[in-house]
Amino acid sequence: MHKTLILDGNQVSRTIKEQLKGRIEYLAAKSIVPCLATILVGSDPASETYVRMKGNACKRLGMDSRRIYLDESITTESLIETIISLNNDPDVHGILLQHPVPSHIDERAAFEAISIDKDVDGVTAIGFAQTAFDYGRFPSCTPAAILAILDEYDLSIEGKHAVVIGRSPILGKPVSQMLLNRNATVTICHSKTRDLAQIVRLADIVVAAVGKPKFVQGDWIKPGAVIMDAGYNPGNIGDVDYDACFLQASAITPVPAGVGPVTIAMLLKHTVDAAFYSNQL
Ligand code: NAP
Repeated sequence: MHKTLILDGNQVSRTIKEQLKGRIEYLAAKSIVPCLATILVGSDPASETYVRMKGNACKRLGMDSRRIYLDESITTESLIETIISLNNDPDVHGILLQHPVPSHIDERAAFEAISIDKDVDGVTAIGFAQTAFDYGRFPSCTPAAILAILDEYDLSIEGKHAVVIGRSPILGKPVSQMLLNRNATVTICHSKTRDLAQIVRLADIVVAAVGKPKFVQGDWIKPGAVIMDAGYNPGNIGDVDYDACFLQASAITPVPAGVGPVTIAMLLKHTVDAAFYSNQL
């Protein structure tokens, strides 16, 4: 009988956080508390929820978090000044600028203002390049989460054909580079891709990073493929038509409780790593 493995993101997240506890205690003994600063511009309710979740996750592990709420009307220059002051604050180890920012802000310029040592979500050009060259300290958290889940379940990557749907700077592009670095053969698809369904049918590993609910259809999936659904659409709906794809896949991440919780765990891990690095430990 066909059995599909459900890749339990909550379990993987717990494992990662468990591994962090000893490292956080080690830092505490040296009076160092890893601290993540999250900057939210404006009052988008979904972004507010993400920022709160990240802050709470820090607290539960004995880490610090700083939430910086900035008015919707802030200029790019003032936002960059805020980022620079966090760069210069030795008690802050990681900086996360919650995406998206209002359209009048130059998001790229703001991301680039984050010091590489505190770029725990791999948003800077240098961070991205380091990931692509396979020596990045902090790859973007969602791509890192996708790789962590594959590894935790011993799902091999080498030699596999991975089809990534989406090419955003924090998701589709970096996860493609990371899969390539792990010797997958990678096809990157986007909104101008022709015959998307036909390409996805060739995939051993499908990464859905589209931002469209239930976009990936069951009859696009090669029997036995592994499906990693990074989508997180309103109503807790992934980018994959889960019920239909489940029947075809050998393994699949659910939404919620798939990639999402592991993304937060990776953010915490990167912040702890940053606290170690900045203290030369
Ligand atoms: P994004 O910046 O909007 O990028 C979406 C990508 O999908 C773009 O590259 C776009 O192509 C492509 N696309 C759009 N329509 C398409 C179509 N019809 N066919 C093929 N490709 C298409 O989104 P994102 O930030 O990467 O996020 C993607 C999803 O992941 C969203 O659901 C988001 O909520 C979720 N997400 C989850 C987490 C998490 O922690 N789980 C973190 C971040 C994001 P073009 O480049 O041609 O426009």
